[in-house]
Amino acid sequence: MSEMTTLVLNDAGRQIAARIGCSDIRSFTRAELRECWEPDRTLVLIMAIPAAVRIISSHLSQKERDPAIICIDQDGKFVVPLVGSHSGANALARRVAGLLESHAVITTASDAAWSPALDGFRGCSTVGDVAAIIASTNAGAPPRLLNPFNHRVPLMLATGEGPNEVLMDDQAGRIEEFLAQAPRASARAALIPTQYVAGIGCSSDATAEQLADLFVAAISAAGIHPRAVRAVATINIRATHPAIVALGYPIISFDSDELADIAVPTPSADVFAHVGTASVAEAAALRAAGPGSHLVVEKVKNSHATAAIAKKPGRGRLSICGIGPGAMDLIAPRAAARIAEADAIIGFEAYVSSIKELTSPNQYLDPSPIGDEVKRAGRALELASLGHHVVLLGSGDPGVYALATLVYELAGSTDEMGSDPEIEVVPGITAGLAASSLLGAPLGHDHCYISLSDLLTPYSVIEERIKAAAVGDFVVVFYNPRSKGRDWHLARAVEILAKHRPSNTPVGIVKDAYRPNQVVTLTTMENFDPSSVDMTTVVLVGSTQSYAKGSNFITPRGYAKRTDDESRNDQT
Ligand code: SAH
Repeated sequence: MSEMTTLVLNDAGRQIAARIGCSDIRSFTRAELRECWEPDRTLVLIMAIPAAVRIISSHLSQKERDPAIICIDQDGKFVVPLVGSHSGANALARRVAGLLESHAVITTASDAAWSPALDGFRGCSTVGDVAAIIASTNAGAPPRLLNPFNHRVPLMLATGEGPNEVLMDDQAGRIEEFLAQAPRASARAALIPTQYVAGIGCSSDATAEQLADLFVAAISAAGIHPRAVRAVATINIRATHPAIVALGYPIISFDSDELADIAVPTPSADVFAHVGTASVAEAAALRAAGPGSHLVVEKVKNSHATAAIAKKPGRGRLSICGIGPGAMDLIAPRAAARIAEADAIIGFEAYVSSIKELTSPNQYLDPSPIGDEVKRAGRALELASLGHHVVLLGSGDPGVYALATLVYELAGSTDEMGSDPEIEVVPGITAGLAASSLLGAPLGHDHCYISLSDLLTPYSVIEERIKAAAVGDFVVVFYNPRSKGRDWHLARAVEILAKHRPSNTPVGIVKDAYRPNQVVTLTTMENFDPSSVDMTTVVLVGSTQSYAKGSNFITPRGYAKRTDDESRNDQT
């Protein structure tokens, strides 16, 4: 669900689209709908369901080729996932309903029962008697799993002793043979990893038949099942060519200069002269399959077309995601998208339960008690190095007194278990910024963060930093300010700052920012009572320039005093 597009009929729809944080808002037309119709996209239709159903019905093909689609009524009262519950439509509907303070209407059976479904795993397609296997799994009799070639098995795939059987494989011959030999009283299905991209080039007059023949020749040369192909890739000028569209796969297309850079085994000077790149099929396949991919079938051709097949690397990804201070609508859309599309979500149990509404039953949730940081980070790296897409949750921002550093320190030591995963940090709103917004504008000038926890930092070091902040006249944001076993540090810290600032310097105490039991207190250094502070609190102490105005804590940057000419020269 990386890209979200909203199709609207009118201004009311535009307003709702803006409220749910969608930046790609388009007027509804047939051309727009066709353009957005791809499996990695989420479509939000803001219109009545009867209209939406009529519009999408002619485009619907197979689960793995359709986008996830949710529909919202024009008043924003109900959010209904129409198709794509397996690719996160239910989770998105819940999230959007949260933002609109409305209701998500979930109607899919396995989701209501919160159990994973065989056809709901991202990165896999299915063939065979899938419905029978889902039904028997729901009834408590999961299938036996056969995985002779050691494909990566989805973490939540329920398996048992049979008699139904599921084969994990992508080779057409083996899959067909397996399905054909199903014993009478049992059901069989194959779960097929979709790791291949077919690159296609063709002349403008190529027919659907010529292209289909060549496509079949290429996938036969690879030995793969047609459902193992996730997309076809081509050059932009052929993206809407009827023969390519007729293949029935999502189409990914590139400009000639995006293809010209890709090193390929069989470039052609003729092709370069015609379209500005020496390769279309091979280059587009490699480009779409991404870094680390390789060709499993080099260019094959007939009189009107070329085809090649690339395989995506099975590399895992670890996204360390910040979930902000607490409120769902303060989670960055990118973090929410990563959470919705991950294979596994790992985190402190309170964080995992707080984002449950973004998840689906096909995802593996791994909550753990507080204090297990090294174990959590190690587990996340281990699953990612096995090829899974893992999300590791952190409150606020995951790089601020949190797990991102630990992950980078540990990374690289897991080589022997698998391949090094790609690691990314998705930022979040840290507690200090959340608290600042509730107090007014206390961080308008230079400020610093100091953690008062001496678990991992000796107290003498912490005290030196507080002294430096005092002398430097920084506004100070104290994290981990006070715990049961550590109740004197905060009073001492404020005492050190008090030597360098007036006694009426504002102090903001924010407990549980953007959580249900939030408490915001504004006081002064002389009236500050450390006993009101606990571990879910941040304390902000002003600089000599800070002051309180009504209930707001302000640290001026100086704009108010400036002349117009001066402020024009200063970028804000
Ligand atoms: N990564 C987190 C900080 C973890 S350290 C972040 O970026 O916000 C834990 C400390 O953060 C707590 O002791 C508390 O001081 C502060 N904190 C975290 N969430 C908070 C919230 N919602 N309200 C107030 N303080 C919070």
